[in-house]
Amino acid sequence: MNAEIIAVGSELLTPQRLDTNSLFLTQQLNDLGVEVTTKYIVGDNRDHVADAVRRAMSRAEIVILSGGLGPTEDDVTREAVALAIDRKLVFHAEISDHIEQRFRQMNRKMAEVNRRQAFVIEGADILPNDRGTAPGQWIDESETCILLLPGPPHELKAMFTRQCIPRLERVVPKQVIRTLVFRVAGMSESDLDQTISPVYKKYDNPVTTILAGDGDLQVHLRAHGASEPDALGLLTEVAGPIDMLLGERIYSRNGDSLEAVVGELLKKRHATLAVAESVTGGLLAQRITSVPGSSTYFLGGFLTYSNKMKTELLGVSEETLQLHGAVSKETAEAMALGTRRRTGSTFALSITGEAGPEPIESVPVGTVYVGLADAAGCQVLHRVFLGDRARIRVFATQMALDMLRKKCTVVS
Ligand code: AMP
Ligand code: MG
Repeated sequence: MNAEIIAVGSELLTPQRLDTNSLFLTQQLNDLGVEVTTKYIVGDNRDHVADAVRRAMSRAEIVILSGGLGPTEDDVTREAVALAIDRKLVFHAEISDHIEQRFRQMNRKMAEVNRRQAFVIEGADILPNDRGTAPGQWIDESETCILLLPGPPHELKAMFTRQCIPRLERVVPKQVIRTLVFRVAGMSESDLDQTISPVYKKYDNPVTTILAGDGDLQVHLRAHGASEPDALGLLTEVAGPIDMLLGERIYSRNGDSLEAVVGELLKKRHATLAVAESVTGGLLAQRITSVPGSSTYFLGGFLTYSNKMKTELLGVSEETLQLHGAVSKETAEAMALGTRRRTGSTFALSITGEAGPEPIESVPVGTVYVGLADAAGCQVLHRVFLGDRARIRVFATQMALDMLRKKCTVVS
């Protein structure tokens, strides 16, 4: 069964306000086994909202509107839905009395405009609102149910969970949606797609989507089934081969971040980590320490942006810097070794690179060297990333964390 959501409010079309109600509703509907196939954000315009309602009704069995139930002229949801389904609006004195009473409780007099909120679409069921003045409405219109919910999130949430979910459970055929997320590092989006598309293209259910962030790829699988074992069975049928094809390039199967995964691996090995950062300016340490409990394995780091600091804090020789440059394999190696020597950590990661926008010392923008030192010595990897300064820096931290992850996975 499918649903469409219409978020009504001109403020939601400005850069200042985000439509969060639809995210909440989508989660709740998915839990019922209902897919949200389209969302609309429509300004406070009666005809535009009515258009959206007609379109949504032609495709979905459930249409949910949020917002536009306030007392003022710009609140048009009631009128718009009445227009779309060609029904009258009927004044309900008991709703008006109830609103008036709410105002009296707050020692205030109800404004005349609040009477607008007492209009209900003919034949609709009223959904009482104990957190605000605007009641919600539930309308059964041929094959579709249309829900009108108030905009303020705390009102909408209470009304939906207490009054709408139990009713929807009776309407919606029993369906279960189960999802699985693989997180992948060290691959480009196109390489990933080429690798796994021969598997997932054969299936409509589960639906597979690839989400790409900076250096971080996610493969989302979504399966529908009549029961939990059904949905899980369908998921496994596709997830199994994908898992085989990607192998160790998958760093997480439960949504965990790369820094959290690396943290777990270090803890398991009772190992410690220290870092030295140049181009990333602390971003690597920030990511590592964003994980609760990172103090059990993370000793600290050096932020050595200038050559002088690299020499003084890490013991990178002036000769290395002169001969090879600050952005070089040799400097990355000396930084990692120096960090390990000075902190006594099990592992030390170093990052040096050129994030641009202008290249310095003839090093191309996007060049990154990552050093990883341990008791056996030091390994350095080199990559050139495309993109702006922010992207290159995130890529560099991702590369460093993934290098350590692979090292820990191999040894453990
Ligand atoms: P309304 O019911 O249109 O008068 O909306 C009342 C208030 O609810 C707005 O000023 C917003 O702060 C909030 N609101 C309305 N729609 C949404 C939405 N889709 N997501 C989050 N907040 C909303
Ligand atoms: Mg509004």
